Amino acid sequence: MAAVSLQGVHKVYNDVHVVQDLCLTIHPGEIFGLLGPNGAGKSTTIRMVTTLTEPTQGDIVVAGYDVSRQKIDVRRQIGVVLQQTSVDNDLTVWENMELHGRMHHIQNPQRQRRIDQWLDYVELKDRRDSKVKTLSGGMKRRLQIARALLHNPSVLFLDEPTVGLDPQTRRRIWEIIRGLNQQGMTLLLTTHYMEEVEYLCDRIGIMDRGKLIEIGTLEQLRQKHGQAILMTQQGDRWQYQFFPTLVDANAYLDQQADKTGKMTRPSNLEDIFVELTGRKLD
Ligand code: ADP
Repeated sequence: MAAVSLQGVHKVYNDVHVVQDLCLTIHPGEIFGLLGPNGAGKSTTIRMVTTLTEPTQGDIVVAGYDVSRQKIDVRRQIGVVLQQTSVDNDLTVWENMELHGRMHHIQNPQRQRRIDQWLDYVELKDRRDSKVKTLSGGMKRRLQIARALLHNPSVLFLDEPTVGLDPQTRRRIWEIIRGLNQQGMTLLLTTHYMEEVEYLCDRIGIMDRGKLIEIGTLEQLRQKHGQAILMTQQGDRWQYQFFPTLVDANAYLDQQADKTGKMTRPSNLEDIFVELTGRKLD
């Protein structure tokens, strides 16, 4: 059974198809990264999959439950870390966890055990009595993650989990995400950070203007579009040309009479993204 399955999904706001005919299957145990520029429809997709907004058309099934007809069952199966849903600043770390645990009807002593377990996992145990407003941005994000895990979901959704965090804090969040995956959790995350996708994701879906325009592993995408790039400087701009391999790119460069402003290198996800969309990610 798929962890998440979307078939022919559309979302229309004010006559605009912000998500168009989306078909996507996420396998149990994988980390799937949905990549795309702002406005591509990533958050809307996450909101539909997590029952926060209804698809205009199409079927979405999460852990065997339909998001339109079996909302409560879906919600039991998922954890959600959205950018907007922040933790309550005037409560302590423990109070935030306690509140969430009660909302999910987790009984004591199991509730306290799980609060301890997840605060320990995200390394916030020693801050359990601190008011959330005294925590750093990275700590707040870790608390959001711990809270989303309290009811033991099988799929965790993270909408731009490291946006606005410094590189060191970002790495820490990545380790937490990886660790959860090693424990068997399925994760779907959205991002527009290339390194995040390259570091974390088993498979990548690229969205642009509401459509899924590419899907696969990074290696599959590099093989399809070319594993090497020839960069040519033209004034203050660079032109990019794909080649199947670095050997091919170097052979081509060797034949050029004038090699000034030209260099070859392995291709990366950003090259593929720009090739597909004509746009940079940030
Ligand atoms: P992303 O997460 O990829 O940046 P979003 O899913 O947030 O993209 O947005 C996709 C498009 O849908 C944008 O053009 C956005 O303005 C529009 N949109 C998102 N939510 C709403 C809403 N509640 N009402 C109207 N338009 C919306």
